[in-house]
Amino acid sequence: MNLPWTDARGYPPDVWAHLVSGDLAVYEHNLRTAHPRRILCHPDKQEYVCAICGEVLYEGPDFTDGSFPRPKEYRFIPLSLEQIGDLRRHVAKAMARANA
Ligand SMILES: [Zn+2]
Repeated sequence: MNLPWTDARGYPPDVWAHLVSGDLAVYEHNLRTAHPRRILCHPDKQEYVCAICGEVLYEGPDFTDGSFPRPKEYRFIPLSLEQIGDLRRHVAKAMARANA
């Protein structure tokens, strides 16, 4: 299975680090609350918001993927705990690369 966060081609390191950090925040929130992995992405405010409870899961500069005029709903695919662990490690590396 080709996991969605493994292909950083075409993204500057800082943008990539924000994208995968946002993805991880969605999975961490799902683990903590059991809320479905459904978020609203607010392009103007640059944030991911849980579609169930409204908690802001991630905000950061320039992390949204593409341009669209209004909040857009995304559903994230289910991952195993092992895959979420891989994602955590990938985010740590991406942050280190972005801050190098
Ligand atoms: Zn929630």
